[in-house]
Amino acid sequence: MALDPVGPESLDALLLQLERLPGIGPRSAARLAHHLLRVPEVEALALADAIRTVRERIQPCSLCRAPSESAPCPTCAAPARDRSLLLVVEAPGDLNAVEATGAYRGLYFVLGARLSPLEGVDAQALGLDELSRRAAHAEVAEVVIATNPDLEGDGTALAIVEALRGIGASGEREAPRITRFARGLPTGGQIEHQNASAIADAFEGRRPGV
Ligand SMILES: [Zn+2]
Repeated sequence: MALDPVGPESLDALLLQLERLPGIGPRSAARLAHHLLRVPEVEALALADAIRTVRERIQPCSLCRAPSESAPCPTCAAPARDRSLLLVVEAPGDLNAVEATGAYRGLYFVLGARLSPLEGVDAQALGLDELSRRAAHAEVAEVVIATNPDLEGDGTALAIVEALRGIGASGEREAPRITRFARGLPTGGQIEHQNASAIADAFEGRRPGV
């Protein structure tokens, strides 16, 4: 025998969508749904509009892969950026944290994930081919790896080094220097949650290899 319907069909549909969001279980979904029913309609619809607008306007930048309303993004398009430096981060939040320090004036590449074989994220899923193509540009003199200081971040850094190994091998250009953020950020701490001076120090103290 089928269970009794829990609520109106449209409310169930909203609950279903909310529960698909990360970190939202059935109880949180119910709380959010009832909040959206309680607030003025214009407020609830503003959320729906914001979701629609962001999905229509924002695409990954064709160069750095950070979310952007323009292609390429303003950072990649800015003539004042130092094109000899390419800094690799796991997530857009890390990019924002590095950018907020004001200490880095080069370009970026956002992996969008971290190496995690258990979760099915392999070297391919990280876009390392794309990174390799960007790093192969003659103007890139240094690739700075700024993956998080933890087990998966270390594994990801190794995979990056492996992917970039071939650049310069045939003598068409010098191999770019590969450096990594200095140790000093707390192990397991996400770069995006560190304060600006700690991130600036990790950049200034970057060292060769991983
Ligand atoms: Zn970009």
